Amino acid sequence: MNISNKLRRGGFTLVEIMVVVAIIGLLMSVATVGINHAIKTAKAQTCNMNIEAIEGAKQMWMLEAKKGDNDTATEDDLKVHLKNNAFPTCPSGGTYTSNNTTTRATCSVHAAASTSGVPANQ
Ligand SMILES: [Zn+2]
Repeated sequence: MNISNKLRRGGFTLVEIMVVVAIIGLLMSVATVGINHAIKTAKAQTCNMNIEAIEGAKQMWMLEAKKGDNDTATEDDLKVHLKNNAFPTCPSGGTYTSNNTTTRATCSVHAAASTSGVPANQ
């Protein structure tokens, strides 16, 4: 047995290693796209839940302060009705506009949220 036969046994060729690396790269790119989409969806849903909380706080403020349909609450008015007495922040860095009591609150990043639970442009 010569040296080249000894080295050949139990090892992988360059082509085999390249094929494995290519397959791993392909799987990684597919996973990355899926994970990015999941993160984007989760942020949009969190934002929508924050808007729902703001809407609830607006309703409570409206009842408590005996306000009408076209009155607009400030962040400070709503804070007392929100968790930890804090105005929620959008996970994507958007800012919320509470609007008046007949108009749904909006996020600057996630545009007008739909009532189905997922904002229009996620
Ligand atoms: Zn948002």
